[in-house]
Amino acid sequence: MSTDWNTRTKLVHEGIRRSQYGEMAEALFLTQGFVYPSAEAAEARFIGAGEDEFIYARYGNPTTRMFEDRIAAIEGTEDAFACASGMAAINGALTSQLKAGDHVVAARQMFGSCLHVLKVLSGFGVGVTLVDGTKLYEWRAAMRPETKICFFESVSNPGLEVIDIAGVAEIAHAGGAVVVVDNVFASPIFSKAVAQGADIVVYSTTKHIDGGGRALGGVVCGTRAFIRGPLETYVKHTGGAMSPFHAWIMLSGMQTLDLRVRAQAANAAMAASAVAGHAALARTIYPGLIDHPQHALAMAQMGSGGTMLCLDLAGGKEAAFRFLNALKIVSISNNLGDAKSIATHPATTTHKNLSEEDRAVIGITPGLVRISLGIEDGADLVADLRQALDAV
Ligand SMILES: *Cc1c(COP(=O)(O)O)cnc(C)c1O
Repeated sequence: MSTDWNTRTKLVHEGIRRSQYGEMAEALFLTQGFVYPSAEAAEARFIGAGEDEFIYARYGNPTTRMFEDRIAAIEGTEDAFACASGMAAINGALTSQLKAGDHVVAARQMFGSCLHVLKVLSGFGVGVTLVDGTKLYEWRAAMRPETKICFFESVSNPGLEVIDIAGVAEIAHAGGAVVVVDNVFASPIFSKAVAQGADIVVYSTTKHIDGGGRALGGVVCGTRAFIRGPLETYVKHTGGAMSPFHAWIMLSGMQTLDLRVRAQAANAAMAASAVAGHAALARTIYPGLIDHPQHALAMAQMGSGGTMLCLDLAGGKEAAFRFLNALKIVSISNNLGDAKSIATHPATTTHKNLSEEDRAVIGITPGLVRISLGIEDGADLVADLRQALDAV
C-alpha cells in the first residue's frame, strides 16, 4: 500500500488482502486453522511463517492481519497486534515487558480495570508508583533505575484531564523507560502520539474504532521488533487474540472512523459551549473549552477537544439522576465512541468500586455525568441536553 496516502484513503484501502475471487469487500476468514500442502510445508511454517502464511487464529488470521496493517498505517507505527479487548491489549502491552523487580510509573487518573492490572502486577513483584499524571515533576520524582514503563491515558477516563505525551516521554526516555499510552479518548484520528514520543500506543477498539457499540476488541501498536517479539509471543500464548469476526467488524468501522470522530468532536464542542454556564451546572469539563486546565496542551497534542464532555451538576447525585432520566436522545449506558450519544454516571457505575476519597482525587464527584457525543444532528443534541438541564 502507499505511504503517500492520507488518513481517509488508508482507512478505506490499507491492508486489504484479496483472495483468488477478487472480492470487493474485506473477506471474513472465519477459520481457526490453515491447510498445508505437505508435511514439509507444515514443518517449514512452524519454523518461520512468512508474511501471508498463517498457522492458527490465536497467532494470526488474514482478516485480523488486514485490521492490524490498517491501524498501524493510521497510527504511524511499524506494526500492530489485535487483541480480544482493550484490557487484553493493555495487559499484553504491560505484562509482556515486565518481570519481578521491575518498576512502573503510572498516572493515577485511570480506568478502573487498568488500575486492576497494575495491582495484579504488583502482586507478582513489580513495583508500581501512581502519580498525578498532569504534573511532570511527579513523573520525574517517581523514576527509579529499575523503571521499565511509564503508563497513562492521554486523556483520562472520565475526568478528561490531558497528559503531556511529549513531556512524559522525555522523562521516561532519559531514565531508559518506554512510554505506553492508552489513547482511547484521543482516538486514532486525533493521535500524533508516536511523533510526540510514545513507544507503544494501545486502543480499546470497542470504542470509536467499532463505532457502533457491537464488538469488543483491542490493539497494541509499536515497533515490529516489539509487536512480533515479546508482545505477540505473550498474547498468542496466553489467549488474548482478537477473533477474525471482530476484526472484520473493526475493518468496516475503520472505513468511517474519520468521518464519525470529526462529527462527534464537532458535536462535543458545540454542546460544551451551548450548555456551559447553565444554572444547573457547577462545571462544564471539555478540553476544547478555553477554561479547561489543559486546554492549550489538548489543542497542541490532539488538535481537537475530542468527542467526550463531562457535566458536573451542582445538585450532586440527585440532580445528575434527574438530568439523566430527562434525556430523550442521549441513552444512559456505559460505552463511549458510539455513533449514538451515551451518558454515564461514573460514581454509581463504572467507578463505583472506588472509595469516595479515591473518586474525589480523580475528579469524580457525585454530580459528574460523562457524555460521549454521537453523530446525531448537533442542534438536536444541544436541545436534548438543554431540556434535561432545565428539568433539573
Ligand atoms: C474502555 C476502555 C478500556 C478497556 O477496553 P475494553 O475494550 O472494554 O476492554 C481501557 N481504557 C480506556 C480509557 C477505556 O475507555
